[in-house]
Amino acid sequence: MAIVNAKEMLLKATKEKYSVGAFNITNIIQMEAVVEAAVEKKAPLIIQTSVAPSKFLKPNVLAAVYRTLAESAPIPICLHLDHCTDVDFCRTCADAGYTNIMIDASKQVYEENIRQTKEVADYCRRAGDISVEGELGTVSGVEDQIKVAEDEAALCDPETAVHFVEETGIDILAPAIGTAHGIYKTANPKLDFDRLKKIFNLFNAEEPKVPLVVHGGTGLKPEVVKKLVALGGSKFNVSTDLKHVLIDSTFEYISANREQYNPGKIDKATKEAIIKRINYWIELLGCAGKA
Ligand SMILES: [Zn+2]
Repeated sequence: MAIVNAKEMLLKATKEKYSVGAFNITNIIQMEAVVEAAVEKKAPLIIQTSVAPSKFLKPNVLAAVYRTLAESAPIPICLHLDHCTDVDFCRTCADAGYTNIMIDASKQVYEENIRQTKEVADYCRRAGDISVEGELGTVSGVEDQIKVAEDEAALCDPETAVHFVEETGIDILAPAIGTAHGIYKTANPKLDFDRLKKIFNLFNAEEPKVPLVVHGGTGLKPEVVKKLVALGGSKFNVSTDLKHVLIDSTFEYISANREQYNPGKIDKATKEAIIKRINYWIELLGCAGKA
């Protein structure tokens, strides 16, 4: 019951104007932390893995642990593959039991983005109840953040977005609106709020049809996050933030307990720190009690 694809979860969020936290994890402790925070706050959440940790930990292992945790949770939780540029690996994760797949062909020319994205969307539809996220425009890495934010051509064109969704059949869209991955180099990154609003209205003005994803959550000010949620960002990706919490909390625990050789206690301290940080995001995104 608690295993669901992301589409239904995000359509509800789109309708009720809150956002579902989507947290990138790199180990099982973090995955447990997401599930425990979700249960505690009755919040619908998404567990995400980017390609490198998915390959390292193995899609079958991740999907098996996810299913075990999610099946016993009284709330819906998804397992999502984040930013996969490889159509074959999208298929591998779909077959393994991921409930949502992001094919990111946004760096390809437009026609090729359509072709690859449609290929994954068609496959996931045939494979079962797996929803698919596609990206249009470019969510930059930290080095290019300012440049991309100022470059209209790299952002998602609203009319093209409609064509893109129609041609590919994707369920969920990640439109580039100026957010970036990693840590923002500026305190006030230039985000195109109007663009998000326009795209939202094209898809969801009358009834929610295509949930929109905000990438690059780390480092955004709380008021900016709230504005993006109010404008219709119904999936909010957070990755770097949790990586920092994981490494900092591990380092702090070991530094304070240098004579102790008890990995279980390190894991416990780390997990508690991650849950605390996820709770911060749950409150900010407004998804507490929405499961
Ligand atoms: Zn992203």
